[in-house]
Amino acid sequence: MRFPLPLTAKIAAYIIGHKIRRTEKFATVLQLEPLHTCNLTCTGCGRIREYSTSLKDMMSLEDCLGAAAECNAPMVSICGGEPLIYPHIEALVQGLLEQKRIVYICTNAMFMRKKMREYLASEYVRDRGAAEATLQKLLQAELVSEKDAAEVRKGPKDTAKAVISPSKWMYWNVHLDGLERTHDLIVEREGVFKECIFAIRMAKILGYQVATNTTIYKETDMGEIEQMFDFLTTLEVDGHTISPGYEYDAAKKDMMKRLNLDPENFFLTRKKTVEKFQKVEEWGKTYTLFGTPIYLEFLAGKRELTCSAWAIPTRNIRGWKAPCYLMTDGHFASYAELLEKVQWENYGVVNGVARDARCENCMVHCGYEPSAMLGDNAKPGDTWKNIRFNFAPRPKPGPVDPDIEEKAYNGVTVGKGHLTGKKETPDVVAA
Ligand code: SF4
Ligand code: SF4
Repeated sequence: MRFPLPLTAKIAAYIIGHKIRRTEKFATVLQLEPLHTCNLTCTGCGRIREYSTSLKDMMSLEDCLGAAAECNAPMVSICGGEPLIYPHIEALVQGLLEQKRIVYICTNAMFMRKKMREYLASEYVRDRGAAEATLQKLLQAELVSEKDAAEVRKGPKDTAKAVISPSKWMYWNVHLDGLERTHDLIVEREGVFKECIFAIRMAKILGYQVATNTTIYKETDMGEIEQMFDFLTTLEVDGHTISPGYEYDAAKKDMMKRLNLDPENFFLTRKKTVEKFQKVEEWGKTYTLFGTPIYLEFLAGKRELTCSAWAIPTRNIRGWKAPCYLMTDGHFASYAELLEKVQWENYGVVNGVARDARCENCMVHCGYEPSAMLGDNAKPGDTWKNIRFNFAPRPKPGPVDPDIEEKAYNGVTVGKGHLTGKKETPDVVAA
């Protein structure tokens, strides 16, 4: 199966329950942003720009857990900012798992290996022999250094502190926007792609589930994304989400001011999205894409969907963000208030007409993926299609290109650290 059975069954039961009770609007995934601080400054990230005045602020652990309980979404995606910077991240994950939620930690992976070493250190106390055997595997694969291994063997610094352990209810969700060169350009730092791959390899050895999330921009080479999925399949990554890049106001402004780039060359229009995603249904059969086949049809331009942003609400330091993860027209004190006070009929695109000009080019998954399950545009056979997609066996990996690893590491390390917008970039391209 694409997604483990208990997780699929939990989500299905939750949605069916609401349908039976005829709940008009409800949350399926909570996008929880405990903080907006990040260790990277990715091109196109509106988050760290829009909330740049509150980077030092963070939600309390109680507020985070309370938000999840309040909207009761079966899945919580902990994002940000970089959630692994959040000082209570371990307790938050533990608390959400205790609430019986499916947890995604959306991360740029730079601190993943550190968090996994902390887990292994706690395992060292619990089962020294097994932990040492795992440590040897990691040393052999050069995923930990001898110095790190020595630290792990000392056990946890604070035995009372929770760690992020592997769980079938939890996924690391690693941000990857392409192979080495592209990804490092987008995140504006060299070496990030390599670290992501090290972290994924280590996670798989330790028994974690790993997903990736990818944003497609105007310049994205879709052939490269296929190669990236091929490479990730060889690493036994459990699944992928993919979404078109949306031109946040904050990201647009930053792009013009800081990088002197024209956002029109970067973000996708609706027309361009459909062109880019022509092969996405085929990918759904070849790769373990998470989500629904209906959303993939929408991306490929084969059907219309209406926006259901209320189903994937965002909670951050300022409250419940309206109307969606991308646009900000205010924040509310509770999910109930968000549902009640937002004029939902003023957003989205219906029959090709944008109800709000800012929605015109949006086809992002946090607005439209839930519509594929809950929206007004359901067609006969959709439910069966969704069930078949998600309950059928995982796609079988195709033949592996023997040079795939070499192709993945296609970057150029020039020691500048921060390539985008720098004068050196043309030389780098030529190298
Ligand atoms: S890692 Fe995520 S939050 Fe941080 S800058 Fe990049 S996209 Fe934004
Ligand atoms: S279409 Fe929906 S998700 Fe997209 S920007 Fe508009 S309200 Fe937000």
